[in-house]
Amino acid sequence: MKPSAFEYHRVRSVDEAVSLLTRLGGDAKLLAGGQSLVGMMNFRLARPSALIDISLVDALNYITSNEEGLRIGALTSHRAVERLDDPVASERFSVLPRSAHWIGHYAIRSVGTFGGSIAHADPAAEWCMLALLLDAEVVAVGPQGERVVPIGDFFTGFLQTDLAEDEMLTEVRIRTAWPHAALHEFSRRHGDFAIVAAAAAVQMSGDHCTDARIVIGGVDSTVIRVADAESVLTGATINAEAIGEAAAAAARAVDPPEDLNGSAAYRRHLTEVLVRRALDEAIAHGE
Ligand SMILES: Cc1cc2nc3c(=O)[nH]c(=O)nc-3n(C[C@H](O)[C@H](O)[C@H](O)COP(=O)(O)OP(=O)(O)OC[C@H]3O[C@@H](n4cnc5c(N)ncnc54)[C@H](O)[C@@H]3O)c2cc1C
Repeated sequence: MKPSAFEYHRVRSVDEAVSLLTRLGGDAKLLAGGQSLVGMMNFRLARPSALIDISLVDALNYITSNEEGLRIGALTSHRAVERLDDPVASERFSVLPRSAHWIGHYAIRSVGTFGGSIAHADPAAEWCMLALLLDAEVVAVGPQGERVVPIGDFFTGFLQTDLAEDEMLTEVRIRTAWPHAALHEFSRRHGDFAIVAAAAAVQMSGDHCTDARIVIGGVDSTVIRVADAESVLTGATINAEAIGEAAAAAARAVDPPEDLNGSAAYRRHLTEVLVRRALDEAIAHGE
């Protein structure tokens, strides 16, 4: 199918994009890599009256790191994150480049953007999962200026976020290093969205876990943290038994939907298997 008719505007700055969003109203949509939006428009699942093409806003294409953490500009491609070679960033936040290969195919990773993925808020998107896992903050810019939204408040429903109609996402910030972190997922064909995905991060002191994060994708309307599984790990000595208990707790805590890709029971089973795999890799990594 073809999209319904729309106006097209190309901008070169955040100010231009925000003033057009404000002027054109809620029917206008930002176009970044187009890897989600254009497909939705072709199927007429989205019918924006206007597109504001931000793909040439070069100022939003960057990854920087310093003692305050990592900053990823909204227009940074998935591929640029995959190729992250800054020695400090790639050591402290290595779960990002290590997980990028799960996203679509090479061509999609070359064009799709980090900010577009977070703004699109797919409940199985790897960057959404890792943003939640790593306690990210989202920078939103609107006509009133800039605000910083903790990731826990950002995803509000299926493909829904806290962004107002006249705001755009400009940056994602990650402050705390989680060197022991990993993401695993299952899909029937390479490059498809995950049926279920699990991400795990632990802070370790010797073989003792001082803090833990478990995030699951594909089982709810948004990516979710599983507090029941995290509490099994925090304060525990990490061994196969603790990992198995945490994985089982995660499977008990989720309430997945049933669809053509699998039943709720199948998704619960995948949750347990994938949490175990993610924890095994997270703990082994960074040793
Ligand atoms: C075959 C295929 C397989 C894929 N597999 C995966 C996968 O396994 N995992 C995965 O995570 N993704 C997958 N994707 C989606 C891909 O990662 C997209 O690139 C991503 O979801 C959206 O990024 P984009 O830059 O293409 O955004 P666009 O498609 O341009 O925009 C998506 C939405 O976000 C909004 N938006 C974009 N940028 C901003 C911004 N800066 N501020 C506010 N709103 C903004 C747009 O208005 C639109 O509503 C796949 C896509 C395809 C076509």
